[in-house]
Amino acid sequence: MRSFLNKLLKNQPRGLDKLTKALEPKVWEEIDCLSCANCCKTMTPTYTKADIKRIAAHFGETPQQFSDKWLIYEKKEKDWQNKKQPCQFLNLTDNKCSIYEIRPLDCSGFPHLPRKRMIDYMHVHKQNIEYCPATYKLVEKMQEALRV
Ligand code: SF4
Ligand code: SF4
Repeated sequence: MRSFLNKLLKNQPRGLDKLTKALEPKVWEEIDCLSCANCCKTMTPTYTKADIKRIAAHFGETPQQFSDKWLIYEKKEKDWQNKKQPCQFLNLTDNKCSIYEIRPLDCSGFPHLPRKRMIDYMHVHKQNIEYCPATYKLVEKMQEALRV
């Protein structure tokens, strides 16, 4: 599957954005995030400054207090990330996010299935096929549709 994505990167087929947009609803007919939550269990979102400010305010904390409690700064990636996994905001009994309405921007965009300039997300999908069944399913459907 990675080699398929590599092929797309080298030779982008026409209409890739249109194709993924059409395939995405079919993915969600087969995948239920609430039976999975693998992203929240095994990966970390990155937090923007605005995310930290918004979520800290929700808990009546300063951004500093919030970051000290839950986050680490990854110097290499220059990102604020969770200290622990599964994510502290995941409710493990029903796989729901306890801060869903104010969750980090990174979480609300995940798993980036239909995107304008889908080709820019191939490297993201290359990583995520390992963790995210929805990404895997989309790439599988792309492969079927393009018969590469
Ligand atoms: S890993 Fe993918 S399929 Fe699973 S919950 Fe996250 S987005 Fe949904
Ligand atoms: S903030 Fe919510 S959506 Fe984001 S990783 Fe944590 S539990 Fe999942």
